Amino acid sequence: MNAKKYDCLVVGAGLYGATFAREMKEAGKKVLVVDRRPNIGGNVYTEKVEGINVHKYGAHIFHTNNKTVWDFVNRFATFNRFTNSPVANYRGELYSLPFNMYTFNKMWGVVTPQEAEDKIREQKQAAGIEVPKNLEEQAISLVGTDIYEKLIKGYTEKQWGRPCTELPAFIIKRLPVRFTFDNNYFNALYQGIPVGGYTRMVANMLEGIEVKLGTDYLENKKEYDAIADTVVYTGPIDAYFGYRLGYLQYRSVRFETEVLDIPNFQGNVAVNYTDRETPWTRIIEHKWFEFGKDEDGNDLPKTVISREYSSEWRPGDEPYYPVNDSKNGDLYNEYKKLADSEPGVIFGGRLGEYRYYDMDEAIEEALNKSARCIATGC
Ligand SMILES: Cc1cc2nc3c(=O)[nH]c(=O)nc-3n(C[C@H](O)[C@H](O)[C@H](O)COP(=O)(O)OP(=O)(O)OC[C@H]3O[C@@H](n4cnc5c(N)ncnc54)[C@H](O)[C@@H]3O)c2cc1C
Repeated sequence: MNAKKYDCLVVGAGLYGATFAREMKEAGKKVLVVDRRPNIGGNVYTEKVEGINVHKYGAHIFHTNNKTVWDFVNRFATFNRFTNSPVANYRGELYSLPFNMYTFNKMWGVVTPQEAEDKIREQKQAAGIEVPKNLEEQAISLVGTDIYEKLIKGYTEKQWGRPCTELPAFIIKRLPVRFTFDNNYFNALYQGIPVGGYTRMVANMLEGIEVKLGTDYLENKKEYDAIADTVVYTGPIDAYFGYRLGYLQYRSVRFETEVLDIPNFQGNVAVNYTDRETPWTRIIEHKWFEFGKDEDGNDLPKTVISREYSSEWRPGDEPYYPVNDSKNGDLYNEYKKLADSEPGVIFGGRLGEYRYYDMDEAIEEALNKSARCIATGC
């Protein structure tokens, strides 16, 4: 007979944990979810301020080509038709992103795709780049010198805290460059924002499941381990092992959020400041995720903006983006070996696996892992 109170303890009420918990619950398992934060949702948490759903841990746009994931999230929220079309502000000049015919027209006055391609080729040849050796050369070979200088250089250097000549080329290998008038940032079949915010969507995912917030699993690990057969751990993998092999590094972001007594600050969700001098990388105006209206369709009189500053991560800061270099990769692999020999614990999500997951990928992984767990008894 099973003496433990829960079949499954899920550590972390982010998208990975909430998906896993939902699937276990629907398979008839007894599930407890704990999160050390005072709220559910993990990094997709949205908080209502002046009637606006504020993306507290950074702008989140749901996009996927995976029909299974799309059907899954649509069980818990209605998605609007939001399309991400950021604007670049270079010293007061505005450009359309991602790079597309509108960008090329504004930059050079070109009208046809052929003219745009010719211009880029011309600038690439003038720069004499054969095989790009760093990010600067890679960028120039993709979009030419003008776009690199005005729209990539300053932004990227602020983001990474290093000159582009010292950054590896692969970081922007997949820069979206379009010779069409399409400024939809994501090439996804399905995209949108959950109406009413992500927090409500995650609350629906967790409906009927016991959740304890403000509860750090690692502080009372022994007691929690004693009450569940399986632990699904979505916190940082190095923290789980008491950082015994060292700290995994992250890039961090600092947000400065302000309520403004005006209805419209910048007319778009995202404006990137691509010059080197402006200290923030971009400004998010949260109301435009939901078209500036409340759920009854009324215009919202105020607005909320967040300035984003890229910053070096220090132990104790909020971890955002894993650093994809060999030093951190090797360290993660050592932690992974420890994780693989930890009985009854599944490590998942962006922190548990130390990798960048888009939301749909985190959900997909959790659906796959939970299905395996249900089928094999974990
Ligand atoms: C700035 C930024 C913008 C992004 N924008 C997009 C986007 O536009 N589109 C997109 O698809 N994806 C985006 N993402 C990715 C998205 O945030 C992730 O896919 C998603 O958050 C992964 O969910 P998760 O459950 O793995 O992690 P998290 O959301 O981080 O959840 C982990 C949870 O575990 C909890 N936890 C950790 N340790 C403990 C502990 N010891 N005890 C208890 N609880 C603990 C944490 O408090 C947290 O709530 C973005 C990411 C960042 C950083």
